[in-house]
Amino acid sequence: MSSNSKLLEDVKQHLCSCSAGLKITPDMEAFLKMPMRELYVSLPVHMDDGSIKVFKGFRVQYNEALGPTKGGIRFHPEETIETIRALAALMTWKCALHKLPLGGAKGGIVCNPKELSHREIERLSRAYIRGIYQIIGPDRDIPAPDVYTNPQIMAWMMDEYSKLEGKNVFGIITGKPTSLGGSAGRFDATARGGLYTIREAAEKLGMSLKDARVAVQGFGNVGYHAAYLAKKLFGCKVVAVSDSRGAIYSEKGLDPEDVSGHKHSTGSVLDYPGAKNITNKELLELDVEILIPAALENVITEENAERVKPIILAEMSNGPTTREAEKILSSNGVHIIPDILCNGGGVIVSYFEMVQNQSNIKWEEEEIQKRLERKMEEAYHSVYDFSTKNNTSMRKAAYTLAVGRVVEAMQLRGWI
Ligand code: NAP
Repeated sequence: MSSNSKLLEDVKQHLCSCSAGLKITPDMEAFLKMPMRELYVSLPVHMDDGSIKVFKGFRVQYNEALGPTKGGIRFHPEETIETIRALAALMTWKCALHKLPLGGAKGGIVCNPKELSHREIERLSRAYIRGIYQIIGPDRDIPAPDVYTNPQIMAWMMDEYSKLEGKNVFGIITGKPTSLGGSAGRFDATARGGLYTIREAAEKLGMSLKDARVAVQGFGNVGYHAAYLAKKLFGCKVVAVSDSRGAIYSEKGLDPEDVSGHKHSTGSVLDYPGAKNITNKELLELDVEILIPAALENVITEENAERVKPIILAEMSNGPTTREAEKILSSNGVHIIPDILCNGGGVIVSYFEMVQNQSNIKWEEEEIQKRLERKMEEAYHSVYDFSTKNNTSMRKAAYTLAVGRVVEAMQLRGWI
């Protein structure tokens, strides 16, 4: 099985694991295992050298029982429909778990943005919005940033949609720059939300976060802010970080802001003065109290799980742990904060952005952070309590709560 199909298969199996408890019939289960809508688009783009290149894109709207669908857009050279479908399913369960009035979606373009110029990325972003225009809208499906997309890309996409509509439609997309209807606090929301769940977990486990050793895989939006905030908010010692080229380790601890400066000037975290270069694989197996995967899926597998032994595994990326690996980690006593719980802060603040866009009100960053903290605490405790009461894993508890809410909405709407 390819790693793309693996994520999709795992997400379906997690769903099945809670079917009996929720009295989900085989018909309902079949429906929940499939997206409600998928769109494939071919995007011709004028390149800077005068040629035309055709890119492939997708938008998957997985389930809209709880509300308009919501989910990020990835730009990645190895993007596949299977990954996007799995990520759209995860968005559905995530929004339900965090009690947002939203369904789940995801989008992607097969491209390598590192090989495209600024203007080529702009033309590609605009072409994508023209391609999926018919099925999105502030009340239908609201995209957002994800891997290798950012606020500037969201601004172009919002602008393209607004041109097609003949008026400003800020509410079509979230994760926009704050000067264009973006929300304060969106830039670090996923990491900040994840850290609130780590804090709650540490309290349950009787563990001090001061000087707790942290390793973070991925140094983009989520990974950088996770490293920066772990040090700033809790006094953790960030001993390792990584990007697509490799990882760095320092027993004494790293200064994430300074590492970020180094990455900006050299293109990578590698060769950071005073730290040792290691591999991404080695990073996952370091002796640390907290491990934060914040890059791509399927990085903790049957092959390395026995050697991955943090006290807390905080899944800030989507789908970092395979089902087989999870069994091994659980038998070794690792406390897993599952992705749909841990990285929900991004979509929560995206929802706050939608609310602000609809009401034309601007909330201060402090207000956003307080609301985010409350929601993350509530979600963590509901999952933890369910898991201890029913003697199930944190993931199964999270899925049961989330899928149960989607099923209830489908029943109330008369779909099933
Ligand atoms: P991002 O800003 O594009 O950063 C991705 C990071 O991962 C980059 O540092 C990249 O390295 C690194 N990376 C890419 N391939 C890698 C590999 N094979 N091994 C190690 N590192 C690799 O993306 P992001 O927004 O932080 O997203 C990271 C994860 O969080 C994804 O799973 C995403 O779905 C999830 N997530 C994001 C949000 C959000 O609000 N952005 C919300 C929920 C979940 P380079 O810098 O070298 O390219």
